[in-house]
Amino acid sequence: MHRIALLPGDGIGPEVMTEARATLDAAAARFGFDVAIESYEAGAAHYLRTGRPIDDGVLDELGSFDAILVGPFGDPQVPDAPVLWGTILAMRQRFDQYVNLRPARLLPGIDGPLRTAAEQGLDVVVVRENTEGEYGGVGGRVHRGRETEVAIETSVFTRAGIERIVRYAFEYARDHGRSRVTSATKSNALRHAMPFWDEVVEEVAGEFAGIEWEHALIDALVARVVTRPGSLDVIVASNLFGDIVTDLTAAAAGSLGVGPSANLDPSRRHPSLFQAIHGSAPDIAGRGVANPIGEILSVALMLEFLGEPDAARAIEAAVDRTTADPAKRTRDLGGDATTASVGEAIRASLPG
Ligand code: NAD
Repeated sequence: MHRIALLPGDGIGPEVMTEARATLDAAAARFGFDVAIESYEAGAAHYLRTGRPIDDGVLDELGSFDAILVGPFGDPQVPDAPVLWGTILAMRQRFDQYVNLRPARLLPGIDGPLRTAAEQGLDVVVVRENTEGEYGGVGGRVHRGRETEVAIETSVFTRAGIERIVRYAFEYARDHGRSRVTSATKSNALRHAMPFWDEVVEEVAGEFAGIEWEHALIDALVARVVTRPGSLDVIVASNLFGDIVTDLTAAAAGSLGVGPSANLDPSRRHPSLFQAIHGSAPDIAGRGVANPIGEILSVALMLEFLGEPDAARAIEAAVDRTTADPAKRTRDLGGDATTASVGEAIRASLPG
């Protein structure tokens, strides 16, 4: 039995979550495992109604689940910062979800905006550090509004933090039949933290004899996503570098609507969290046209983490069969299918 907390979120969240949940139920029935789902309200709509992004005590309750499946949070009527810091960012920190895993793949039948990706293929997994680095939150701002005003934002890199994310990237490559890890660095200009990052990468890489690896300067690396996407396999990156490179790999895959993500605590002391990478898309919310694939592929990542790899692979294969048919693509992929019909097509394509 897998106990899963479900937070549908805002905007298109409830629409894509309906399809994700139905796909989870269908996979459970076909692969013979049980799920117990409990739904919670949180996000911008909840904030508008109650003045809080999430009720007191809910974060504590979430800590007892095996996994958390969430939709996007945010609404133009509410400032983003309190909503995101009260929900998704709070969960990442509280549950020590130090791996942000973001696969980006050019799905069958989709060309994407890059000719190079169509020619060489694009199948990249970015392993982003999720708890420290440039987003450590250390710093301050003084003398506001004066000529002497100053702001300091300090990056925080720890040996334990670097080691665990780099080791996760190499283990991920080994366990998923991937052959190369590229480490994003900037040790030519950031002369304290990045040489340290590079040294730890070299130490950890020594434990994985079968995996090729390289350092790549982040500026050259983002250019390579455009010019030679086929040369990239697993990328491991700090919080800021990973944030930037994953928007680029998602855009190169053709639509924000197809990207899944996992926020993982690999120690399993706390629940991990799974979420499509897109936001709440207020411009198309409520119209039944949002692409549910990002949320459905997030269900596949969740099932793999929960020890149901056959169900995970079956959902991914069903998504591939669906995008291959132009009649089963939503508007963001150039088609005119609805959210519900794409979800139904994916479930119909699961092995019976
Ligand atoms: P967005 O991802 O919501 O939308 C960007 C563009 O992509 C829009 O044109 C939208 O229509 C399109 N799009 C996104 N998902 C789609 C899908 N599944 N199918 C089809 N088209 C899709 O980004 P935004 O407009 O910058 O942000 C809107 C809100 O979402 C903001 O409040 C932002 O803070 C929030 N947000 C939340 C998360 C999260 O909770 N993880 C992530 C990103 C943005």
